[in-house]
Amino acid sequence: MSPSGSFDPDSLHFARGHFIGGRVVEGTGERLPVARPSDLVDYAEVPVADADLVEEAVETASRSVAASGWASRPPRERARAMRRWADLIEERGTELGQLEALGSTRPIAQAISGDVASVAEGIRFFAEWADKLGGDVAATRTDNLGLILSEPYGVVGAITPWNVPLSMASWKVGPALAAGNAMVLKPSELTPFSTVMLAQLAVEAGIPSGILNVIHGTGIVGEALCRHPGIAKLSFTGSTRTGIAVMKAAADSGPKPVTLELGGKSPQLVFADADLEKAAACIAGSLLANAGQACVAGSRLIVQRTVAEHLATLLQELLSDIAPGPTWLESTSFAPIISEQQAQRIERIVGASLKQGAACVFGGGRVEGLRGAFYRPTLLTQVDGETAAVREEVFGPVLTIQSFETEEEGFALADHPEYGLAAGVYTRDLGRAMRAMRAIKAGTVWINRYSRTLDFILPTGGFKSSGIGKDLGRQAVEQNLRHKTVLIDFGA
Ligand code: NAD
Repeated sequence: MSPSGSFDPDSLHFARGHFIGGRVVEGTGERLPVARPSDLVDYAEVPVADADLVEEAVETASRSVAASGWASRPPRERARAMRRWADLIEERGTELGQLEALGSTRPIAQAISGDVASVAEGIRFFAEWADKLGGDVAATRTDNLGLILSEPYGVVGAITPWNVPLSMASWKVGPALAAGNAMVLKPSELTPFSTVMLAQLAVEAGIPSGILNVIHGTGIVGEALCRHPGIAKLSFTGSTRTGIAVMKAAADSGPKPVTLELGGKSPQLVFADADLEKAAACIAGSLLANAGQACVAGSRLIVQRTVAEHLATLLQELLSDIAPGPTWLESTSFAPIISEQQAQRIERIVGASLKQGAACVFGGGRVEGLRGAFYRPTLLTQVDGETAAVREEVFGPVLTIQSFETEEEGFALADHPEYGLAAGVYTRDLGRAMRAMRAIKAGTVWINRYSRTLDFILPTGGFKSSGIGKDLGRQAVEQNLRHKTVLIDFGA
């Protein structure tokens, strides 16, 4: 992987249009300014797709998937092209990482050695599934042959958020393309450009033009994509509220499957017998990662009362060690908040919580002296289930602390009425860990650690309002296939 040093934010050259049929399309009409979160300076404009352009993108994808043989050629060929793509992503890792760092909240060191590296690895992981899920022979009468064929949908639509743009795009594209689909992808209007470069590299690597198309715009364009009858399946990552709108719009052109990766309010459940230093490191790591702008941020600490104070002290030490700064400096490790609007949202939720009786025991407020919006890691105590910061997804580095006496109480507090994306459980008692694993209603339960590794084999996705379906794992590829049953009667 390439070096991950500082760079000049005004020196980058990149495509600013849509990407359709292997070409950058400038588009006519409305354009939106795009700001870099590090200093809130507008650094480029992005075109907004109109109805004709959405039509062109879907039609191009549909035509290309048929004409290129992407689905009908031997699946190993797809895998080979995708592996070349992964190699190219690594070769051009510095450029790609710089573009990601410039336009998003990802500091350059993390963008290159974390995000770009993981995108390449993920594409390789999905490439390997291309020839492994073709179908099954079913047991039936001896003079009959039953087959279950797995076939791609055709054109899959994807809509992604701003928090880790390249990773989110690759989680959608990887399984869809490995399964033999074409895709029209709309990245967040706040972070549009790195996804276009990802698609350009796909074509350079030999993935046929028109198999991966990128269109830009706000939610209006997203909705048009959801509604389009040429989109046979949708995959969305974003907020729960938008996810519901996506599902409704998708149903307008007839029912179609929708995968939704939505918001979270994940608990960190710490028992007194846990390795507290390890637990503190995991919890602080989760809060500091992307400054809490992660769907799986473990934002509710639920700790057994006898160790609550000690754990809070350990956390404060770890949360003091931050290096905020522009994302283009190698020395930066603590991310800016994506926008002024989002920073004000964090302030509103913390303010409302304080009014409800919460106490801020650490942090609170912005980091001074920087041009972007940076919010300090913050600990809130004296909260309950009604407190705004416990109820709502903050999407910032804010941790609420609740304590409990008994295991049952702990499990009950861990359960959020709305969300069920992930949970962390810290205990040395194996029996308790197993009980927690069963009791917690979340798509992922981490025991004695927190957050994902680069294990692409592990699917991710939420329960309750946190989503439907899975990204990653074999399951993600399966969701991009539909099954056809064939029964052949060769009896007399
Ligand atoms: P968002 O819901 O505001 O936007 C997500 C995407 O949807 C953007 O591309 C946006 O333009 C588009 N969009 C907006 N309105 C739409 C509509 N009506 N129809 C179709 N598309 C529409 O989310 P965000 O602010 O970009 O991202 C933050 C949210 O994403 C958080 O809630 C976070 O938890 C969630 N998220 C979830 C996961 C996960 O894996 N579960 C991962 C990352 C982020």
